Amino acid sequence: MDLINAYKTFLNNGKTERECVTAALEMAQAKGFRDISTYDELRAGDRVYVVNHEKSVALFVIGQKPLEEGISFVTAHIDSPRLDLKVRPVYEKDGLVYFNTHYYGGIKKYQWLTMPLAIHGVVFRKDGSRADIVVGEDEDGPSFCISDILPHMAQEQMKKTAGDFIPGESLDIVIGLNTEAGKDNEGRKAILDIIRKEYKIEEEDFLSAELEVVPAGRARSLGFDSSMVMAYGQDDRVCAYTALQALLDLDTVPETTACTLLVDKEEIGSNGMTGMDGELLPNLVSEVMDRLSQYSSLALRRCLKNSRMLSSDVTAAYDPLNPDLYDKDNASFMGRGVSFEKFTGSRGKSGSSDANPEFIASLRKILDDAGVKFQINEMGKVDVGGGGTIAKFAARFGMQVIDCGVAVLSMHSPWEITSVKDIESAYSAYGAFFRA
Ligand code: MN
Ligand code: MN
Repeated sequence: MDLINAYKTFLNNGKTERECVTAALEMAQAKGFRDISTYDELRAGDRVYVVNHEKSVALFVIGQKPLEEGISFVTAHIDSPRLDLKVRPVYEKDGLVYFNTHYYGGIKKYQWLTMPLAIHGVVFRKDGSRADIVVGEDEDGPSFCISDILPHMAQEQMKKTAGDFIPGESLDIVIGLNTEAGKDNEGRKAILDIIRKEYKIEEEDFLSAELEVVPAGRARSLGFDSSMVMAYGQDDRVCAYTALQALLDLDTVPETTACTLLVDKEEIGSNGMTGMDGELLPNLVSEVMDRLSQYSSLALRRCLKNSRMLSSDVTAAYDPLNPDLYDKDNASFMGRGVSFEKFTGSRGKSGSSDANPEFIASLRKILDDAGVKFQINEMGKVDVGGGGTIAKFAARFGMQVIDCGVAVLSMHSPWEITSVKDIESAYSAYGAFFRA
């Protein structure tokens, strides 16, 4: 299967962070990777992964040099903006039955109205058993959506600014209908009966659920020339997939240990036990060091300090319909290669990890030598752009790190756009980085 079709399959199979980890492990196992618990000791050439709570994973190809000399990391995030179900989600109002949601990450709320939605996730029952849920993807099965006001009656709504267009509290998805006047909550009961029968879930089980509402449907080719991909969740699964595939395709034992790290919670600040703002990275690396009989607290610190990382996250593609937002000389264009961002942040680089120029020089050489086209950009004009990535959380260990990923048009929308050439460029760039 070619890279782009394999990428689309990855997107279709991975619409949540847990689904992405599952998909990544299946791909890795087919390429000889094994869970670290199956190794008593590791040696150069071994292919191993360490999973963290089903929502982040580090995959390593062990290199020839001691780990103390550093690791080459390519790190992407596998969470994407979406609507999460509240813990008490089911309600009926004037005949319609809804799931109540709370959005996750930065979205333009109006974009989520009147489009087919699916629900992906997992529910844990009190006895510890689980139900894995995917509903809304099958065209012959149920689907879901958020309704909107008809234009004929939207005079007041249309006067509002886009930010106020629909309050977050109203982003609730339609899941059923009660046609009996005067019999309030009969529809709610009927929907809960269906859920109980289909999924063996009681209403109380939603208290211990992680259910994510995402756009329904498959990744598509965009344009008559199929030069682009249109799909949900490309921020940042476009970098996650290419970083993963580049590692799986490493066919020699590298000098430096190579690691693709896929993390969660970037879209809400990298917090939590599966995000980068914490001990995740040293914990994962310690497991590998231990099985190489190289672990000490000093060796771990040296390893992280001597490491290099491509924080492989997406950036904003230049938008020809909104040119005023960009400094054209310092923008990335779709199709012109993988993009570096020396710094992110906003209003005077605030909150950014500014990459060292000597590191950038070494990367220029690696990519030029490998014949990989690249761009280097800033996200938007000085007082326009903003945003953070995981780079600063890696930088705190003293390692060299720079953002390097694919430019995305309509980023954070339900259907994001990337270029085929940039996906190929990212794959080649990450592979060259691992081999260097
Ligand atoms: Mn991102
Ligand atoms: Mn993002």
